[in-house]
Amino acid sequence: MDEGNVVRFKEPVKVTGSVVNIDQHFLLTGSAIGQVELICDRCMESFVIPIEAELQYSFADACGFRGHVARVAGEGEPDADPDIREFAGDEIDITDEVREAVLLALPSKRLCSVQCKGICPVCGVNRNKSECKCAEDSVDPRLADLASLYRQLGGGETVGKSKG
Ligand SMILES: [Zn+2]
Ligand SMILES: [Zn+2]
Repeated sequence: MDEGNVVRFKEPVKVTGSVVNIDQHFLLTGSAIGQVELICDRCMESFVIPIEAELQYSFADACGFRGHVARVAGEGEPDADPDIREFAGDEIDITDEVREAVLLALPSKRLCSVQCKGICPVCGVNRNKSECKCAEDSVDPRLADLASLYRQLGGGETVGKSKG
């Protein structure tokens, strides 16, 4: 529904980094580099920007995770990282973490270019692609009403002549 929030990955995101086993958890540090396709806030056209996201996440297996939770709860360690993620099995799936990091790295203002002229509010044309005359032709709506009223009263031709 919300087109403005569409994010598409143009190519597989490259993740580089290392995992260090600290105490009972694994600290992942690295970066995710890729190209994402966004929708411009002004002209609604899609555009592609390079993204580099920092990754820093801690993981623990079920056993280590419980131990960590118990330690934080019991001792209230001020420097304990509360954001440890639990994983099961022999592998850590970091898909969610990469996606999250990339989303956080996205610009809050999504513009295809800083010079983007956006969409004409009158005719809806993409002003980056074609010129429309709306700006020059724009008539004050009150004057437009007057003009059409005048025509309805049969004064249309007179207007033309008196101007000519
Ligand atoms: Zn744009
Ligand atoms: Zn226009």
